[in-house]
Amino acid sequence: MAPKLVDARRELSLANRIVANEGVIDAFGHVSMRHPDNPNRYLLSRSRAPELVTPDDFIEYDLDSNPVREPSVSQYSERVIHGEIYKARPEVNSVCHHHCPAFMPLLATGTDYVPIFHLGAVGGIKPPYWDQHDEFGDTNMLVCKPEEGASLARALGAHWMVLMNRHGVTVAGTSVKDCVFRCVYSARNAEYQVRALTIGDRIASLSPGETEKAGQIVVQTTGLTRSWEYWSMRVAKSGGAVAAETKPVKTKKKPVVKLKKKTVARRK
Ligand SMILES: [Zn+2]
Repeated sequence: MAPKLVDARRELSLANRIVANEGVIDAFGHVSMRHPDNPNRYLLSRSRAPELVTPDDFIEYDLDSNPVREPSVSQYSERVIHGEIYKARPEVNSVCHHHCPAFMPLLATGTDYVPIFHLGAVGGIKPPYWDQHDEFGDTNMLVCKPEEGASLARALGAHWMVLMNRHGVTVAGTSVKDCVFRCVYSARNAEYQVRALTIGDRIASLSPGETEKAGQIVVQTTGLTRSWEYWSMRVAKSGGAVAAETKPVKTKKKPVVKLKKKTVARRK
């Protein structure tokens, strides 16, 4: 495996663990990245809790969210969210879909997200809402069909975050680190916003101009590397450091030859 891809898999597994460790995702939710060598493909873990994802778990998909090699492991049902956003937004290189508890009061009431402090600007100015029912009627609420993913990507438009009524949030980034930064700080902002609403009717939010300027903090300072280093340390402290070894996910074509061992055991 090319060194660049090995590094990318390590970074993406750490991203999954960071976003989980910071309380944005739990058993569900996922972080993906566009393939570092092929813009028409992306990497997403096999179906498992993000906090457990290792560099070995990633499956390579085309932008229609079909696996490049048929895996022998189960896949996330909502992977079309990722593929359709990569298809629609060439500058997006990482996507996270989550159901963060901090956002749920906003999503249940259709309340707009507003940045209430400078780091909350990562969510952008009035990120759009999308409701699956509007276009697709009664569903099980999972975004599984390509047309559902494409509809969500259209709602995201040129924004970096789309709020999904009665479901969750999808966040895009120019890089894995950028996406993680947006996820964590938009979740913090949502938490503070909801708390603020319990003690006051009015929220003093950032102005559109302030939001735009504060949104640049991430690219104009050491904020991104500083946060990544801090969150990585917290993952390590929690005992969740990722194993350095990287192996590709097993495919169906790869025979599993363990018959000999079993035969020997039976003879004993
Ligand atoms: Zn979901």
